[in-house]
Amino acid sequence: MQIDLTHSNTLKPSKLPTLIGLDRAGIAEALVKAGMEEKPAKMRGKQIYRWLYNQGVTDFSQMTNLGKELRTNLVEQFDLSRPEIVERLVSSDGTRKYLIRFAPGVEAEAVFIPGVGRSGALCVSSQVGCTLNCTFCHTGSQALVRNLTTAEIIGQLLVARDDLEEWPTPSVGRKITNIVFMGMGEPLYNLPSVLSAIDILSDGEGISISRRRITVSTSGIVSQMHELGESGQSMLAISLHAVNDELRNELVPINKKWPLTDLLQACRDYPGASNARRITFEYVMLKGINDSAAEAKQLVRLLAGIPAKINLIPFNPWPGAPYECSSWNKIEAFAEIVNKAGYASPIRTPRGRDIYAACGQLKSTSVKRRASEKLQERLQK
Ligand code: SAH
Ligand code: SF4
Repeated sequence: MQIDLTHSNTLKPSKLPTLIGLDRAGIAEALVKAGMEEKPAKMRGKQIYRWLYNQGVTDFSQMTNLGKELRTNLVEQFDLSRPEIVERLVSSDGTRKYLIRFAPGVEAEAVFIPGVGRSGALCVSSQVGCTLNCTFCHTGSQALVRNLTTAEIIGQLLVARDDLEEWPTPSVGRKITNIVFMGMGEPLYNLPSVLSAIDILSDGEGISISRRRITVSTSGIVSQMHELGESGQSMLAISLHAVNDELRNELVPINKKWPLTDLLQACRDYPGASNARRITFEYVMLKGINDSAAEAKQLVRLLAGIPAKINLIPFNPWPGAPYECSSWNKIEAFAEIVNKAGYASPIRTPRGRDIYAACGQLKSTSVKRRASEKLQERLQK
């Protein structure tokens, strides 16, 4: 017998359809399909919505304003179980990193980072793996498994709130105040699911994290940026990382399809961008590659006229990575040029270094470890 020691919760996978990831109308529709009349389905849809996203319940038996018979009926028809946290690492700085299993072989990461925004940010994944091969990114070296569904994106928030014991949705003193789509994958290549997830995350009667506190980071999928701004009304972050096309083609190869001129025009046109709602430009500091003073000056020139803030990210190394992080002096000198030009440019402090914080790194470390554990078990038989 093989015992999987990585399981940390006991919810069993179900073949029944889930209600998680649906909005009020979607829940009502599912109830109608299951045989309920339209009018009561609408009312029950609203009640269940609050139980799921405001109270965080995982069981119909906890929905005390539904009749007993209805509850028994719902248990037989729908699944409310959470995805499974298969690895949970807590860093000495309070960062919590979760490896979450949605289905066999479908795993992605979410990270809770305290001390960001008003209180703390949850970094969520939008895909398992990524089709884009940014050379400095560990996720980029992993094949795409698939897009995550709305339910799976929301599921990351639900399990993180379970772990932080943050139910029902608190009105004050929250731990998770911000959401950033900066985990695995390219959110704009999974836009419909990301947009539905933003609608649910930001709804005031449920999870209630306002759109201004939700940031979607993209490598520059220009064709989808307008729709994100129009329908999602979220904050935008651009993974810029280079100030000329030649270098950006190498670091962020999607630049060959949408070069800098196109990308920056799409930023100028991003719906809702203003001085109060600035676009964040992420710039990973790679030693000897993109960290010169000349490049800092070029960055300032490039962003002229765009309501922008600049986020300098120390490169987070991973085994076999072809780059090193710039020295602290270089990063500070770069930041100073950018600051003098009037841009807020916080240097993102490396978080959770002791728990493999680099994008995509926990997953591969854990997969390798489990493979070697299985080998050991087989050898011992
Ligand atoms: N695919 C999206 C969102 C996920 S990556 C995007 O590329 O924007 C989130 C951020 O982490 C991006 O800015 C990405 O460039 C950065 N990143 C990836 N690997 C990194 C590493 N090893 N060190 C530092 N930043 C990294
Ligand atoms: Fe994909 Fe973003 Fe990593 Fe590039 S940086 S490979 S787009 S996850």
